[in-house]
Amino acid sequence: MFRAIHLEQSADKATVASLKELDDAALPTVDKGVTVDVAYSTINYKDGLAITGKSPVVRKWPMVPGIDFAGTVSASDDPAWKPGDSVVLNGWGVGETHWGGLAQKARVDGDWLIALPAPLTLADAMAIGTAGYTAMLCVLALEQRGVQPDAGEILVTGASGGVGSVAISLLAKRGYKVVASTGKAAEAGYLESLGAAEVIDRATLSAPGKPLQKERWAGVVDSVGSHTLANACASTRYGGTVAACGLAQGMDLPVTVAPFILRGVALIGVDSVMAPKAVRTAAWARLAQDIDRRALASIARQVSLAEALETAPQILAGSIRGRVVVDVNR
Ligand code: NDP
Repeated sequence: MFRAIHLEQSADKATVASLKELDDAALPTVDKGVTVDVAYSTINYKDGLAITGKSPVVRKWPMVPGIDFAGTVSASDDPAWKPGDSVVLNGWGVGETHWGGLAQKARVDGDWLIALPAPLTLADAMAIGTAGYTAMLCVLALEQRGVQPDAGEILVTGASGGVGSVAISLLAKRGYKVVASTGKAAEAGYLESLGAAEVIDRATLSAPGKPLQKERWAGVVDSVGSHTLANACASTRYGGTVAACGLAQGMDLPVTVAPFILRGVALIGVDSVMAPKAVRTAAWARLAQDIDRRALASIARQVSLAEALETAPQILAGSIRGRVVVDVNR
């Protein structure tokens, strides 16, 4: 038996979330299946949506949520993995269409796993989590477009959130000048401690703005979408790059083509869920090399599986600072 957060759908289509003891035999059957003793999972924005039922993230019922986990292989039908291997999983529809990480056990396709890169611990990997791995994908997107640390200011929106916090830390460590946009004035000290050179009020970006604005940003990491992303594009410098990964403000994008056709701005979409294995392995290798583990300690806090249930609505309210790691054995 193992403990898990369990999501069911009621007759009136409401999501009912509870902590349950489940039988190992209930774990999904998978080709090349690998059974993992989960050590840590996390509460990502998408997990908040799944657990509260606020958005139709869950596609199969019942579901164990949790879009990521880190743990140790206990059994494997995939020759690539053996008992005792330390592994990390992000995305692939886990926690949406396939039972996820908010449980003491998971059974997944071996192709979805990557080896935990040294010197990261299982706890480090989930302090980074899908949000931090996505932040790394955004940083790589800027680098691939030639945005170097001396290029100018980099805007990070949703700064106090999971993606934002890790992005600031990664960029600052590489020598970029980071400007953090936040709605939480009280977190200015936290954002500066992660390496932000300047903290701005997100209200300066979140309302409808002009199609072209004063050129300021050499690059942008945006986890917010909507008017914030539109304004970020409109104020990106000639030839700059905007990496867009999120929708915390909204799914809309009220932008014109002006920044793209008059300033050669590139808007790069970043997806972590279906990213090919080579891309995710490269991102995790860079995380293992670049992540500041002292910063991680201030970014992440741990909760139990039961406490994870209470955290879900808080992440949707945008009231959580940094990352929430779930110790599934607590
Ligand atoms: P968090 O909730 O931790 O952070 C989001 C932050 O956005 C908040 O902390 C807040 O920061 C800001 N925010 C919240 N509401 C609003 C609003 N109405 N207007 C402007 N800013 C707002 O989430 P994550 O960092 O984990 O994820 C951020 C986004 O990225 C989500 O939309 C998520 O779905 C997406 N995502 C996408 C992935 C992909 O593969 N593309 C992978 C992972 C995440 P502050 O108070 O500092 O302004």
